[in-house]
Amino acid sequence: MKNYTLYIITFLLLAAPQIKAEKPTIVATASMFSDMAKNIAGDKMNIELIVPIGGDPHLYKPTPKDAKMVVNADLILKNGLTFEGWLDELIENSGTKASVILTTQGINPIKSLTYDSPDPHAWMNAQNGLKYAENIKNGIVALDPANKDFYEKNYNTYSAEIKQLDEYILTQISKIPEAQRILVTSHDAFQYYGKRYGIQLESVLGTSTDADVQTQDILQLIEIIRQSKVAAIFTETTINPKQMEQIAKDNGVVVGGSLYADSIGKPGSDGDSYINMLKANTDKIVAGLTGKLSNATEANNDNTPSSGFPLSAILIGLLLVGAMLFMFRKMNR
Ligand SMILES: [Zn+2]
Repeated sequence: MKNYTLYIITFLLLAAPQIKAEKPTIVATASMFSDMAKNIAGDKMNIELIVPIGGDPHLYKPTPKDAKMVVNADLILKNGLTFEGWLDELIENSGTKASVILTTQGINPIKSLTYDSPDPHAWMNAQNGLKYAENIKNGIVALDPANKDFYEKNYNTYSAEIKQLDEYILTQISKIPEAQRILVTSHDAFQYYGKRYGIQLESVLGTSTDADVQTQDILQLIEIIRQSKVAAIFTETTINPKQMEQIAKDNGVVVGGSLYADSIGKPGSDGDSYINMLKANTDKIVAGLTGKLSNATEANNDNTPSSGFPLSAILIGLLLVGAMLFMFRKMNR
């Protein structure tokens, strides 16, 4: 029996790293795209992420660790449309042999309202999300054609979920009285969303977050808030909320919650996947703009994990303790 236990331990030690190394590696710039890739690749590929959840891809500065990640990649997912301005240089300097997929391929870009460049936030329209998923699926299949059926099946399930999401958003937004369909946020990440689902957009910053806020822009925004009598304005999870909170306070409107734009939420939050982030945004926007929130019940920023340990972590912990006790008993015999 002793030999048997030793055999298991040796096997686990030797096998674990090898199983990992055999899988192809996908590197995504932002968490929306790594989440999409996970839904399609399942456990057959390693998915790695450059800009951590909650980070701002517009302002991101790559680290030596990122260069290593890119070197070891087999497939890199790039949004393009000026979203990750730092990526091309990172790829070039690393000398990686990975293939690069442009996830926005086939999408009609909207022109930025503030810059002479395309607006990168195409994923905010769930119909574009379908295109992202298709492009990522094609990249994954090209990387591992032997498992094509597996990826196609995952892709079909996933795209059906995205279609449902698109329907959900259309239905929910239609509940907001038309005159109240004005979304005031920190930066201009919601043009694709607004165009698809019928909401007018106003923001303090442009389509990137690296510009200085002009007093004139704030005054203009305050004028819009006063004239339109919107019930709520919104902060974003990747941008300091102070300014929007001050504007809300000064103008007697509610902060309708923190929206997800350039990152999904942390595990356990209401926006912890691409689908959940758009759903959570929609629920907050509808609640805020239909006046369902009062100052007393102001929406919390939901970008923090909800309650303590996830159940899965507790179960794994219990299993580990059980296995150790079992082995100790066997060894002491
Ligand atoms: Zn953005």
